[in-house]
Amino acid sequence: MMETISKYDYFIKSIKEGQHLYRDWIISIFTVVFGEKSSSPKPFDLYHNESGNCVEVFVDDKWMKLDNVKYLEIPYIYHEVVPLLKAGDIGNALEDVKNTTWGEMFFNQRVLYYSAGTYIGYMQDPISLKKIGSIFAKEMLDNPKPGQQYEDGKLYVRDLQKFGQAIQDLGNYEFFVPSVDKRGLSAPPNNETLKNELFEKYKDQLGDTVIQAKIQDELVNNYKEYIKGTPAEGFIYKNKSINTAIKRMFLLHGVESGFGGVQKPIIIKKSLDQGMDTKEFPMLMNGLRNGAYSRGALTQLAGAGVNLLNRMFQNILIDVDTSKDGVKGFCGTKDTVEMVITNNTSFIGRYMKVNGLPKVIESTDLSRTTPVDLYTPLWCKASGNDVCSKCIGDNLSKYPKSMGTVITKIASTMMDKMMGSAHAKEQVLVKIPEGWLK
Ligand SMILES: [Zn+2]
Repeated sequence: MMETISKYDYFIKSIKEGQHLYRDWIISIFTVVFGEKSSSPKPFDLYHNESGNCVEVFVDDKWMKLDNVKYLEIPYIYHEVVPLLKAGDIGNALEDVKNTTWGEMFFNQRVLYYSAGTYIGYMQDPISLKKIGSIFAKEMLDNPKPGQQYEDGKLYVRDLQKFGQAIQDLGNYEFFVPSVDKRGLSAPPNNETLKNELFEKYKDQLGDTVIQAKIQDELVNNYKEYIKGTPAEGFIYKNKSINTAIKRMFLLHGVESGFGGVQKPIIIKKSLDQGMDTKEFPMLMNGLRNGAYSRGALTQLAGAGVNLLNRMFQNILIDVDTSKDGVKGFCGTKDTVEMVITNNTSFIGRYMKVNGLPKVIESTDLSRTTPVDLYTPLWCKASGNDVCSKCIGDNLSKYPKSMGTVITKIASTMMDKMMGSAHAKEQVLVKIPEGWLK
């Protein structure tokens, strides 16, 4: 008669021997793996036995029956509740934990304990990567300098890197998703009622773009309310997913503005889930054509901008050698612009005028609340089209031939914005602060 081992004991024994770091083991416990029983098994191997209608595991040099798991059943389901996790069985569980799950136990050991030891305590649902990220952001220290030691009980950049590795590792298993719930794949029960009410209330103004945006907003906000505090919120966390994908799929197709800006935008009441109305088909197709065209057209527009700027500025040099007024790399200009630099780190390394001469801006200067006289390429007197290192600042002066490349950032930024708007263009209502229009 084969001995039996409990699911809990096998899980903890495996983890204490570091099995959670191995792909084979993870796949074998969280999915079903077919195959022959190995004649030379490795510790913690797992085998689905058809004739015995059971699952066997290789522990302490012998095959044992895994309690309560049948042939071709998934041995461990992540959200299955484990009534009691004993203190210390998972690295960062310093006390007993009640009603956790296999998935949480695995995550805590593989990710949190692996990267930060016991610094971040045992976490249970909802596990929020954002929350973990903010712990790192607030409490993390620089790695020690050469000759210094890591101290216990502190969080370092090294630990964040390990955290990133561990999360990336989980991402390589198709079966780990942040969390999901039927609410992430359905409309709120009151969606139809609310939609009908809105279309009835505004039935004479449906062509008005403000009203169109308002209807969409109300349905989207209703959906956000529906998933609030549920696991779906951890999965569909980006506004873009809700405002575009979820909205079209389940709430309503929403506003279509056609192609070429000649048609008036219309609002389409059905969601994709509910099918299409043939009378709206031309507008839908025009929307698709608009998307296909814009992707290409907007990309080439910005791409041409990058090329143009690069050609215009490629011969400009940053003059780091010519001296004026006893200052190396200075054109001698007297003109500056007044600029408030309070708390703006991008000014570090630029130059301000102090007693008539350039002085580098350091982090301690950022506490100034009064404007400084900032040197700028606008008034630079370097020869030709060049600029001097004091007017442009220390950062770029390290690379005196970099201007042609750096300046293309302007077109790249335009491209980002254009692509962003082509991919997920949505009409939204924006509240304009009082007094702006006066
Ligand atoms: Zn200058």
